[in-house]
Amino acid sequence: MKAAAGLQSKLHYDETFNCVQCGYCLPVCPTYETMKSEVHSPRGRINLVKMLAEDKIKAEDLREPIEKCLGCRACETACPTSVQYGKILEGAKEVLENAEQKSITQKLSESLIFDQMFPSKRWMNTIGYLSWLYQKSGMQKMAQRTGITQFAPLHLGKFESVLPDLPSPAERKNRARLFKAIGSRKVTVGFITGCVMDAIFYETNRNTIDLLTKAGAAVLIPVNQTCCGALHAHAGKIADAKLLAKRNIEAFEKEKTDYIVNNAGGCGATLLEYGELFKGDIEWERSAQAFSNKVRDISQVLSELDGLSFTKEVNGTITFQPSCHMINVQKVKNEPLSLLKQVKSKGYREMNDKERCCGSAGIYNIVNYEDSMEILDSKMKNVKETNTSIIVTANPGCLLQMKLGIQREGLEKSVRAVHLVDLLVEAGAVSK
Ligand code: SF4
Ligand code: SF4
Repeated sequence: MKAAAGLQSKLHYDETFNCVQCGYCLPVCPTYETMKSEVHSPRGRINLVKMLAEDKIKAEDLREPIEKCLGCRACETACPTSVQYGKILEGAKEVLENAEQKSITQKLSESLIFDQMFPSKRWMNTIGYLSWLYQKSGMQKMAQRTGITQFAPLHLGKFESVLPDLPSPAERKNRARLFKAIGSRKVTVGFITGCVMDAIFYETNRNTIDLLTKAGAAVLIPVNQTCCGALHAHAGKIADAKLLAKRNIEAFEKEKTDYIVNNAGGCGATLLEYGELFKGDIEWERSAQAFSNKVRDISQVLSELDGLSFTKEVNGTITFQPSCHMINVQKVKNEPLSLLKQVKSKGYREMNDKERCCGSAGIYNIVNYEDSMEILDSKMKNVKETNTSIIVTANPGCLLQMKLGIQREGLEKSVRAVHLVDLLVEAGAVSK
């Protein structure tokens, strides 16, 4: 029986023919390394997608290989024939999502997480408030002392222990919406605060604004912005991802900005692909592409403005763990390194295979905990070889994962993980 044309188009069947099965992508694929089977390699996954599109296998045969893919897109960077693996992966996720028979409880909990929590500032702020209360009331210390956290579902107890210090509700409430450039204004940027980023890494967001203004940018925070939709798209919920994208496009269209800046590699990649998300949509493609054209990682804007100098020495030697989406999708490689190298420290040391995914990958480390930890352990071998005391990352997920890696290796006394933005502030960033 011939598969329906609609299914083939959703699976990007035509694109699968660009894979010539050469295997150049195999050595860069973290899941192929740890799971050691063809179906967990890019080549194997593409082949399975093609077989589903040709009605040779069932959707369920594809589910595990696709769910175990990190979506790091290192295969895309390595591929000599430029296979658009990200497109194939996203299409497969959407097809699997639609084919899944879900219980009412599953539907309700997914709707709560994806439709209510992530798109809502109020929900995200509440998560931030509750986490602050948990830390400040002494509950966190008590929970850790009694070991109760080990009973938390989905290994969340492990993540709880690596949360940063959170700001009080008053500090959160009082943030302005407009920040003037210090000195003469070179550009005006709109800042994507992010959902998880603003709930948990509020301090990093504050530091981002601080660096931008010192470098000569006026910073606007559009009120109606929402979650970028990365988690929805990665879960195959493309219609939901599009709804969020439309809200962001409309929110930023109202402001006059030169750039739309983010400080989270994964979010940045999704924002950069809004144009692709609406390809062929007469009503939205143009504005989505215009939005994407303005998207920049904070390191790109700071490098371009070249308005900062660093006055304090950071105590320790530094290595850098880039985010996969920043490298493989945004193609931002040199800017974070060039900023890091301006920081006074005891030295910078490059990590072997630094571009290999750390296993965080959105919520992969929550839903595929054991697989993620195996990938992390492999990454930590390279981290240890650098013998450095500071691991710098540029994505909240990687940052938490690195903190977890430090804990797993028992390196808490000698090594710390920090977001690039926070390290630049610690290094005494001032206007030039
Ligand atoms: S490198 Fe590209 S063409 Fe070669 S097997 Fe991997 S995806 Fe296919
Ligand atoms: S996206 Fe990453 S994990 Fe998935 S197939 Fe490509 S390299 Fe492997």
